[in-house]
Amino acid sequence: MTAAPVLATLVHPRIMVVGGGAVRELPGVLAKLGLSRPLVVTDPYMVSSGLVRRCLEPMEAAGLHPAVFSDTVPEPTDVVIDAGAALLAAGSYDCLVAFGGGSPIDTAKAMTILASGRASGAGAHMRDFKVPVAADAAALPVIAVPTTAGTGSEATRFTVITDTERGEKMLIAGMAALPLAAVVDYELTFTVPRRITADTGVDSLTHALEAYVSRRANPYSDVQAMAAMRLIGANLRIAYAEPDNARAREAMMLGAMQAGIAFTNSSVALVHGMSRPIGAHFHVPHGLSNAMLLPAITRFGLEAAEARYATAARTVGCALDRDSDAVAAGKLAEGLAQLNRDLDVPTPGAFGIGKADWDARLEVMADQALASGSPGNNPRVPTKEEIVALYGVVWSGNS
Ligand code: NAD
Repeated sequence: MTAAPVLATLVHPRIMVVGGGAVRELPGVLAKLGLSRPLVVTDPYMVSSGLVRRCLEPMEAAGLHPAVFSDTVPEPTDVVIDAGAALLAAGSYDCLVAFGGGSPIDTAKAMTILASGRASGAGAHMRDFKVPVAADAAALPVIAVPTTAGTGSEATRFTVITDTERGEKMLIAGMAALPLAAVVDYELTFTVPRRITADTGVDSLTHALEAYVSRRANPYSDVQAMAAMRLIGANLRIAYAEPDNARAREAMMLGAMQAGIAFTNSSVALVHGMSRPIGAHFHVPHGLSNAMLLPAITRFGLEAAEARYATAARTVGCALDRDSDAVAAGKLAEGLAQLNRDLDVPTPGAFGIGKADWDARLEVMADQALASGSPGNNPRVPTKEEIVALYGVVWSGNS
């Protein structure tokens, strides 16, 4: 394991309002920032279920007239971003309020990046902004209001957009993707269905663990990652089993946010690198593909950062203080596999992916994983052949 870098650039939203009822503070946050013409970016379910009213009503009560763009899709695509950026360019908004899970939040981030790129001539298509390009220029600021716990996107400088022509889930990173403010209200998550509670919760856990073992970890990201692992380790199963458990929902929302802060100030690693291609090729929701990968990829890296994985194991609650590092690290891989069983995480085959299809994409998925840069942050940096072999392990569910 490399030593922590001596220099770390730390980033956060400028304002974060966190806690039960926080969404009612949204108009006050906008006022503090001098913003008054919001375009709310959300998804069709938020509108049909009426949940979006939780966001609109406080703004309307404050005399604002928010417009709504709800033509977003889960795991956002460049096609949706095109439409959203055109809407932005044609309107007279002064901010985007992203209300929903990671998909609407990432959509809003990408809309503002693309609208700015088109206006300045920096780029006309979303792929013009994928890493290693720095997406630093935004047309308008984003205020993020997450409704899942979650991607942590409310606190990250990333957005993930699918290139539909090339079948690639692109990572886009830069200051333009970092929300100006976040309003983080766990009371918005009581309606999240069990499967999505599980998948988004494992996504958060993966963020925290990868931030902690990353080669780019630093003392600040460590604190956030440890806090997140403690909260998620103690509460994910409870939130899954008892959707109305306020304490568990609150802990998960805070954990997800802290995990987002952790990885945006450190990085993600091999799980995320291998997860995006599974999402792009087989339409597996992001948290679920992370969950499928997490035990096997953790096992692959254990020896390269045994002490770190051991600390993580003790922090999430699957090893004892008195366990040696070797024992504790081993318990982490087993504990993550058990968590998948407890959360009914399917194997790729049980999810409905055909073995021949999976095998036919192994080479291209491994290439895309490597090209994203994320595997380079892993404690054990894999070769392409090792990534192909790991996809094989994940297929068999032998993790
Ligand atoms: P999502 O936003 O796609 O939502 C999943 C489903 O849950 C949708 O049908 C949605 O309508 C529903 N839902 C959301 N909130 C709900 C609520 N309160 N009650 C009932 N239903 C609700 O899922 P997600 O996992 O939050 O986000 C996934 C996306 O986030 C992916 O595109 C992934 O790549 C991205 N992501 C981004 C970052 C980042 O840093 N930008 C990090 C991780 C993941």
